[in-house]
Amino acid sequence: MINFLDLKKINARYALELKQAAAEVIDSGWYLLGERVKVFEQNLSNYCGVRHAIGVANGLDALRLILRAYIELGTMNEGDEIIVPANTYIATILAITDNRLKPILVEPNINTYNLDIDQIESKITVRTKAIMVVHLYGRVCWSEKLETIAKKYNLKVIEDNAQAIGAQWNGKKTGSLGDAAGFSFYPGKNLGALGDAGAVVTNNDSLAEVVRALGNYGSKVKYTNLYKGLNSRLDEIQAAFLNVKLKYIDQENQIRRQVARFYCDNIKNQQIILPSVSHGSITTDPSHVWHLFVVRHPKRDKLQEYLKAKDINTLIHYPIPPHKQAAYREWNNLTFPVTEKIHNEVLSLPISPVVEKKELTTIVNAINRFNSF
Ligand SMILES: *Cc1c(COP(=O)(O)O)cnc(C)c1O
Repeated sequence: MINFLDLKKINARYALELKQAAAEVIDSGWYLLGERVKVFEQNLSNYCGVRHAIGVANGLDALRLILRAYIELGTMNEGDEIIVPANTYIATILAITDNRLKPILVEPNINTYNLDIDQIESKITVRTKAIMVVHLYGRVCWSEKLETIAKKYNLKVIEDNAQAIGAQWNGKKTGSLGDAAGFSFYPGKNLGALGDAGAVVTNNDSLAEVVRALGNYGSKVKYTNLYKGLNSRLDEIQAAFLNVKLKYIDQENQIRRQVARFYCDNIKNQQIILPSVSHGSITTDPSHVWHLFVVRHPKRDKLQEYLKAKDINTLIHYPIPPHKQAAYREWNNLTFPVTEKIHNEVLSLPISPVVEKKELTTIVNAINRFNSF
């Protein structure tokens, strides 16, 4: 059987280092807000080329805390509008509504699946305060035009960088492109902890200070509470694991590019829509770190069942768009045709630093023999 993602195999490669790191934390007697988190924050901010990194409990909290901090700083107020792609994982949207801000959903580009930057300007109103971009599937969503719009309308740009650690635009890493960024280290992400973990990065000193306080009960000095904060901290043991794994992220992302290249070079089935990239340059293109390898097919469910019957496991990212979820029933009558088309047609094939060549060959051969007509 071919797994979609083999986390056991991913972490087994670093088992000795990870066990050593865990043992050190256990023996230290210090489990929160300690040296390992500090070191990870330093490592992550160096890696991204930003002044501040703040470890938090997970990726959703990273995004929630950025917006909460902007509210505490008076940059945003309840009811203000945040432009966000309609085609994203629901966490992006939850971070906005949790802060009583208003998501303004914008369609993606059908080729990149990322927020269509050309549609942003027509959605801006006097209440718009930020654009939240998502580097979906590991592909950078950024352009000079985006920078120009943000400047012209005085908007913050927040990056949801849960899926794209290590990707670059014009030599700058994702996370350093906008005003602030949220990272997820959920085990299945390109940089995965062994449990939940996340981080906020920013070059803004006051934002960093407020995020740090908010994640620790709104407190800078113990038992003195400046804000109605929450408890969202990165565990020492997860930071220790992440310090081990961050060293390998670039080489792992490069293996992902090689897997993507193999798929693009060898999938010949004309009914399959491959990711729109120039095939020859996949392994040298720093703007994509291939968190997911997503193809489209008009009979997606049939393709998934066909592969399943051959013991090849695939997933759908994502089956239901946020505006069609029961959680957002107030939007259920809205239509976003491009977003809905994507959700109906996408299928994610196995991709990871440990997927084997013979597995890839099996997958490609099966796909090339699939005929739904
Ligand atoms: C994973 C993910 C999140 C949330 O991260 P968690 O660590 O699971 O809370 C947010 N946005 C996107 C795009 C994600 O893929």
